[in-house]
Amino acid sequence: VTEEHDLDSYSYEKGNSKPAKIAAKRGMLQLIDEEQCFSKDVSKYMKEQWHLFDAGFDYNLVAVFGSQSTGKSTLLNRLFQTSFKEMNESKRQQTTKGIWCDRGGEMPVLVFDVEGTDGRERGEDQDFERKSALFSLAIAEVVIVNMWENMVGLYNGANMGLLKTVFEVNLMLFGRNRGAKTLLYFVIRDHVSRTPLEVLGQTVTKDLHKIWSELNKPDELKDEQLDDYFDIQFTSLPHLLLQPERFDTEVRRLRLDFSDPSHDTYVFKDKYSRQVPADGFQHYAEGVWEKVVSNKDLDLPTQQELLAQYRCDEISAAALIPFRENVQGLSISIGGGNVVRDMGKKFEEIRTQTVSRFDEQASRYNKTVYEKKRQQLLATVHGELQTVFVGQTKNAISRAVTSFEETSAKRLEMNERGAAGGKGYSGEFCSVIKGEKTKAVEYVKSVVEAMMLKDAEWTYSNDIELLNKKLDFATARLRMIEMERIVNRAQKNAMVNYGPQVSEILADARADMWEQILMGLVDSTRNGELDLEIDVSGMDKLGLEYSTKVDGDAASANTDAAAVELQKLKRRLRQLCWEGLVKHLNEELGEQMLHMKLRNRFEDKFKYDAKGIPKVWSARDDIDGCFATAKAEALSLLPLYSSIDIGCLSTNFALKNTLGKQDYFYVAEETATGVDEALYEERLPVFQLRRFNLESSLVLLNSIQQRGVSKKFSRDADTMFLEAKRAVVMTKTQ
Ligand code: GDP
Ligand code: MG
Repeated sequence: VTEEHDLDSYSYEKGNSKPAKIAAKRGMLQLIDEEQCFSKDVSKYMKEQWHLFDAGFDYNLVAVFGSQSTGKSTLLNRLFQTSFKEMNESKRQQTTKGIWCDRGGEMPVLVFDVEGTDGRERGEDQDFERKSALFSLAIAEVVIVNMWENMVGLYNGANMGLLKTVFEVNLMLFGRNRGAKTLLYFVIRDHVSRTPLEVLGQTVTKDLHKIWSELNKPDELKDEQLDDYFDIQFTSLPHLLLQPERFDTEVRRLRLDFSDPSHDTYVFKDKYSRQVPADGFQHYAEGVWEKVVSNKDLDLPTQQELLAQYRCDEISAAALIPFRENVQGLSISIGGGNVVRDMGKKFEEIRTQTVSRFDEQASRYNKTVYEKKRQQLLATVHGELQTVFVGQTKNAISRAVTSFEETSAKRLEMNERGAAGGKGYSGEFCSVIKGEKTKAVEYVKSVVEAMMLKDAEWTYSNDIELLNKKLDFATARLRMIEMERIVNRAQKNAMVNYGPQVSEILADARADMWEQILMGLVDSTRNGELDLEIDVSGMDKLGLEYSTKVDGDAASANTDAAAVELQKLKRRLRQLCWEGLVKHLNEELGEQMLHMKLRNRFEDKFKYDAKGIPKVWSARDDIDGCFATAKAEALSLLPLYSSIDIGCLSTNFALKNTLGKQDYFYVAEETATGVDEALYEERLPVFQLRRFNLESSLVLLNSIQQRGVSKKFSRDADTMFLEAKRAVVMTKTQ
């Protein structure tokens, strides 16, 4: 036997083709097929065919049951303008089973029609009949029970027999946990007798109670009443064939029961609601059917909770998709160290958007589950926004530190330039640092606080701590630069007088020339040291705290850190003064200069007499002897000038105690001990502590250079000698 689902095979009364058109527009779905499989297309139909997916709770469910061929499908089609298959006399033998579903016309109602053999009458398997009845009771708010008038009072009639089974299994499966009541809406068909409806109703009610009392109830449920589970309502219809017009009129009256909430006998009362939002219907109904098929305990509240969990997860996941796109956008916006000022507002917007997307659908589900899932969603949202929060905080810290360092350096340099004309150090270091530090911290705080999301429970005290460490670290570096500046200034001051003094000593070129020069160095350096002491002690100790923090030596010595520091600065100064001297000597004693010095000395001796009067050579004069003496004297200057003679260090007590001491000079300070490297991206420059090598600075002119100077000088001297000789010859010949 083939099933004919195409519309042509449906039989409609003449002039009643409207339902067919609506059905063509929408579509009827076989919810459960012959194999008892649940359709995968319910949500699709809810969306595309029935347009109920977004209805929330604003839709109703109605199912029908009753014996085969009692006009159930016919009634549903008339009542709801659905397009369920109606059977002709000729097709009575059809044996398909299944549950069909369609939307009732313009009403927000899902209608379920059950098809199947009447197992009871034919003595066949009652399994499907029982299952579909259970399913209907579980999901439908209203179950239409269809029966002929002539079946009323037939206690053992097919309908009542089915009801008995259903009540029994219903009790066993659902027990007390069946949730909302169900309305049994009895429609007595072919009501042709004069017996009033009330009387028929009373008969049916009496039978129902009798059935109920005879049910095989589990012990714990033996006192349960029919009324605890079901409400009962009655109506009847005239004979379709005998009174077709009255039938139509009555059906229209019945329709009000399902479509007009103001109607007295309106059936979809809140108390019957299954509380299943339309978008969760597929999942819920499928779950119920699974339990019914597998004959497992069906606990509807639990089923609803499971549904809530499933749907809330789905809705949450859907809400997180646009959310993550937004977070991605925010992450990009803070790339390259950017700081976005209205980030907090953006966080708030995105969160509100995401949560309301969730609330819109999820709030219809089980309240406890919904609230729990909402918390979870919020936690996810907060967590993912926090990565942006952390990123921007990091950016703000970098910016603050960079700007702190740049601005402080600029201000300190300006102070220095201002102080250069006047006396002493400006002493502004600490106030500059404090001011800039406050600005940096306030900047970061303002950025972070503007980002704070209410209830997100983000903290940033660690960030401020990190910021402070970075600022201290930068301060230590600035301080080193500042110290270097002070020492350089002291050195320059010292050189102002010492430089000319050295030039004079060099010009004299006495035998103790180097002793004089070195004594002068020690004296000038000591003056510089006094300057330094005044600069450092008179000021605010140059933020010594930053020194002890990063300078292991000062910190570990635990003595007077300031004294230790001053000692180091002095060594640095001495070093600079020494370097200043060497530089000066190199300028004064270059090859050119030295050549001049030798030449001058030679000329002094050779061309002038002891009184400084130019010599006029005569034949009697010992030109050769004078020349040899003068040249030897001039050349003796060469080794004297070519290197610094520190022989005096061993004989001169004052020099021995200063320049001769091992720790008089140092190239640079040692630093960067005790710094938590992981904390800083960069390290302080590390100065190697090494003793200054005096020896290496001693040579001013090497032997090759000396030979060059000597050769060039000798040529000049020889020329002067020849000139002298020629002068004598000329006077002779005159
Ligand atoms: P279902 O199997 O219960 O769905 O019954 P159908 O709606 O397919 O109808 C079966 C047969 O009963 C069809 O031939 C209908 O014309 C006929 N029928 C439908 N409604 C009525 C009615 O109210 N009274 C009578 N006497 N026959 C009806
Ligand atoms: Mg039918």
